[in-house]
Amino acid sequence: MSDGVLAPEAVARRAHANGVTLWALTDHDILDGIPVARAEARALGMRFVAGFEISVTWAGHTVHIVGLNVDDTHAGLVDGLSAIRSGRSERAREMGGRLDRVIGAAGSYQGALDYASNPALISRTHFARWLVDQGYARNMQVVFTRYLGDGCPAHVPMQWSSLEQAVGWILQAGGRAVIAHPGRYTYTPMQFDALFEQFRELGGEGIEVVTGSHTPDQYREYADVARRYGFLASCGSDFHSPREARLDLGKLPPLPADLTPVWHDWQ
Ligand code: AMP
Ligand code: MN
Repeated sequence: MSDGVLAPEAVARRAHANGVTLWALTDHDILDGIPVARAEARALGMRFVAGFEISVTWAGHTVHIVGLNVDDTHAGLVDGLSAIRSGRSERAREMGGRLDRVIGAAGSYQGALDYASNPALISRTHFARWLVDQGYARNMQVVFTRYLGDGCPAHVPMQWSSLEQAVGWILQAGGRAVIAHPGRYTYTPMQFDALFEQFRELGGEGIEVVTGSHTPDQYREYADVARRYGFLASCGSDFHSPREARLDLGKLPPLPADLTPVWHDWQ
């Protein structure tokens, strides 16, 4: 729906085939895929959790926050997400212009747009796929290191929502807020502490410990963070496409046994 390649039904079937018994769909900035995902999960006999992922600007960098077990029809949440989606189109045009200059070509914007099933949700992932398929980069990682990552020549800084707003929407909609893939952020240790403290004060409860975006060393590092801050632990595949996934759905290692999973009290 957002920047994944498979339709929600196909993701559900893949998860189930890989042995998943409790599954959350977490598109970026949108809840439209939830009803279909829920229906398919139920038909397969998998427990389903309605979720999404939202970008937050904190101390000048982007942090992703996952909302889990939300009421996907909650008006405040639906409207909030719709408002933050609105900046993506303009940013993508600007990103396309910069990329054209950097790679000495034309048509980056249109190229990326062709990969976005919902044009309102055009993201760096769509640009990255286009660049790889056109032969401008060997893989997605190279795209982010060379062109689209923070501070790279075609990176367009974006003012996303505030941490307060994002956690607020999640709580209002009855959900649980989780810091996504903390190992991807480039904060100093002091900034990380401030982020975790502030997140907890706002009512944030969880942190991703095991995710397709972490190395095994990072599983251990963020398990320690969960212990220190009393966070619930989450496990997210960060699965976008069979070709791009480091770890497939259902193939992640278990959470350390002493941590409390974010889903521990969900029926
Ligand atoms: P955007 O919301 O447009 O800023 O794009 C963010 C998306 O880009 C993330 O959800 C990831 O899927 C992808 N992304 C960001 N950084 C990386 C990276 N270093 N390697 C691969 N994908 C990345
Ligand atoms: Mn993310």
